Amino acid sequence: MANYTAKGESLGKQAHASVDAGGLTINCGHRHIVWQAAFIHKKIERKQGNYVFQFGDSPAETLETSEKLLVIHFLKQHKKSGHYLQGQRNTIWLKGMLLLLGILVILHLLVYFYLLPRMADEFVKSIPIEQEQKLGEEIFSQMSDMNEDVARSKVLNAFFAKLHYQTPYKPKLHLVKDEVVNAYATPGSHIVVTMGILSKMKSSKELSALLAHELSHINCRHITRSLCRNLGSWALLSVAVGDIGGLSGRLLQGGAQLRTLSFSREFEEEADHEGFAQLIKQGIDPNGMVNLFQKLQQDQTIDVAEFISTHPDLKSRIEYTKQKIAKSHSVFLPTPTLDSIFEKLQNW
Ligand SMILES: [Zn+2]
Repeated sequence: MANYTAKGESLGKQAHASVDAGGLTINCGHRHIVWQAAFIHKKIERKQGNYVFQFGDSPAETLETSEKLLVIHFLKQHKKSGHYLQGQRNTIWLKGMLLLLGILVILHLLVYFYLLPRMADEFVKSIPIEQEQKLGEEIFSQMSDMNEDVARSKVLNAFFAKLHYQTPYKPKLHLVKDEVVNAYATPGSHIVVTMGILSKMKSSKELSALLAHELSHINCRHITRSLCRNLGSWALLSVAVGDIGGLSGRLLQGGAQLRTLSFSREFEEEADHEGFAQLIKQGIDPNGMVNLFQKLQQDQTIDVAEFISTHPDLKSRIEYTKQKIAKSHSVFLPTPTLDSIFEKLQNW
């Protein structure tokens, strides 16, 4: 026997139910009710030892029965078509799959954002400086469209030599006839400064700050690390299988986009920090760094690239540099030699 409750009613009536090919047939008093299997709820609930079938939209019609055989019979006939009870198993299976998917996504993110960059960094550490310089030379030689002012580049190199910045590299500097406000470096070897950025400067301190920043990108191997990070798993795979030739090829391809390569926030901050330390070590007033950032901030409409990339934004760079200056309590000496070379560069 069973108990049938019609839609919207709170009390059930005695009924008799049987299973057939269409679903369930319920005889309740003089009523003959047919439940199509497709509309019978997937989940058959247990209630005080009874089984409860539900049918239709909420509030659903219900059929409560103690007849286990009816349930078994129903499931045998309709399990496949309507995934009854198995629905519960499906839910568990689905939850398991979602959990597994979630774990995979987290693992992937972990590998992509944490492990791969660190593996790339570890790999770069294993590259000898000479190899890195060679790579930088090759990348630089591909930048044939650069319109360099060779005579003024010599003066820029003289300026750099007088800075006495600390570096295991021997960077060569280039001043290029380009109105785009930009400065960038190749791995371990070249620093390119545009006329566009030079013309914005008002003092040797600003140029000193810019070069300290770019040199720090070289010293911290940011360019090589970024190129390797951009190659991601491909690079590490080729290292693993010993295909260094293929890797160099890919790195060179990446190097072609060096002018517009934007560093991570972490690298920009590190270059600012290391550049600041270079200035302090040489007794050069680091306010040039703040001045340069401020000038670039005022003129953000022009086509600007790496040096003023948005990571981190100029506002915060100005802020943390000012804080460092306040904390440094350093005495800054006059720099007449640098000033006169800078003047020569600007008033060519
Ligand atoms: Zn930078």
